[in-house]
Amino acid sequence: MIVGAGPAGLTVGNILRAAGIDCVVLECETRAFIEQRPRAGVLEEWAVRGLERRGLAAGLLARAERHTACEFRFEGERHRFPYTELTGDHHFVYPQPLLVSDLVREYADVRGGDIRFAVGDVRLHDVHSDHPAVSYLCPDTGQRRVLHCAFLAGCDGARGVSRAALSADRVRVARHDYGLGWLALLAEAPPSSDCVLFGMHPDGFAGQMPRSPQVTRYYLQCPPGDDPANWPDDRVWEQLHRRLAATDAAPLAEGTLIEKRVLDMHDYVVEPMRHGRLFLAGDAAHLVAPIAAKGMNLALHDAFLLGDALAAHCAGLPGAEAGLAGYSQASLRRVWDYQEFSQWLSEVYHGAATGDPFRAGTALARMRRLFTSPSAAAAFAEQYLGTAGRY
Ligand SMILES: Cc1cc2nc3c(=O)[nH]c(=O)nc-3n(C[C@H](O)[C@H](O)[C@H](O)COP(=O)(O)OP(=O)(O)OC[C@H]3O[C@@H](n4cnc5c(N)ncnc54)[C@H](O)[C@@H]3O)c2cc1C
Repeated sequence: MIVGAGPAGLTVGNILRAAGIDCVVLECETRAFIEQRPRAGVLEEWAVRGLERRGLAAGLLARAERHTACEFRFEGERHRFPYTELTGDHHFVYPQPLLVSDLVREYADVRGGDIRFAVGDVRLHDVHSDHPAVSYLCPDTGQRRVLHCAFLAGCDGARGVSRAALSADRVRVARHDYGLGWLALLAEAPPSSDCVLFGMHPDGFAGQMPRSPQVTRYYLQCPPGDDPANWPDDRVWEQLHRRLAATDAAPLAEGTLIEKRVLDMHDYVVEPMRHGRLFLAGDAAHLVAPIAAKGMNLALHDAFLLGDALAAHCAGLPGAEAGLAGYSQASLRRVWDYQEFSQWLSEVYHGAATGDPFRAGTALARMRRLFTSPSAAAAFAEQYLGTAGRY
């Protein structure tokens, strides 16, 4: 049983179906809704290759843009950071709804997987026993249905029910609150640059992420819990122009703002990620604020580990138990590495706007080091692209 049809749950489901294993995916939203929900867009090359190896990247490889650099803007100047030159790896820009659509189509329409949309009130039962089960309200009849299973994959994101099914004495939840927010915006406008832009400014951080030739994501640092109504379009564009201003920079292309919401920047990590026959994966187990665009990549990493381990177990392969037993630790090593990088990057992005001249000075020193020290640049590129040989 898989709870949640996001990148994590759908990837696990596809791996199981490819191995001929029966599974059911339960999703509380409709198919149309999850195929349009805007969120992430940046995938690391190892994640793309992982999807490709499992036959899940045809659409992505045909349509994603490959990025080779990002640009930092501070003190009114532009500084291009060519990460592909340093690592050989790319970032692939592919909107999350397109990836989710590809994964649903492959799971349900090609591999014949069972997926039930718009289910209500999902509950997990007997998760610490050898006979777990899931129940839900059928959207057509309103009746509760119970499904028994060998394993449960809790892939239901940050607001799901899987994590809550664990008793507090069995888990450790580590949390970090950055005490700031990002106004997340989607504009019907072409990107203003061929790469991702990060602006470090005394008024606050601003970012630009190309999503497609017609749509661009922008971020503006704002107080946590801020109301999007405090950000009329004129104020948004004035602040974006101001915070991303730099010598010789092309003017930002304005357009209709089709999404405007405030994300409070916080992280958590649930340890361990396995409890008996319940395995948490993706945002259900760990949330990483979108500062370094890591969440969907981590969700895919979990899904590869978990899907492969479950498939090996069901096939009775030698060493299969070690894969399941080691799942939590193998995932968490990359999770903690990415959390640390996000925390480091947050100080770089937001230091200038703290009002504290010491933090502003050290944030600027970190940034300048990337352009003066080849070893600092190489280390940053490795973390930004997730290319370390081991975690
Ligand atoms: C604005 C924004 C930008 C981002 N940008 C990036 C980026 O560029 N790169 C990156 O790597 N990450 C990024 N992320 C993070 C990324 O979107 C998430 O980490 C990713 O979606 C996690 O995938 P998941 O499958 O674990 O969870 P989700 O995508 O949240 O999927 C969980 C699924 O479970 C369903 N569900 C929830 N509760 C229940 C329930 N009770 N029963 C049944 N189903 C349920 C949900 O409807 C959902 O479909 C961004 C996030 C945001 C908000």
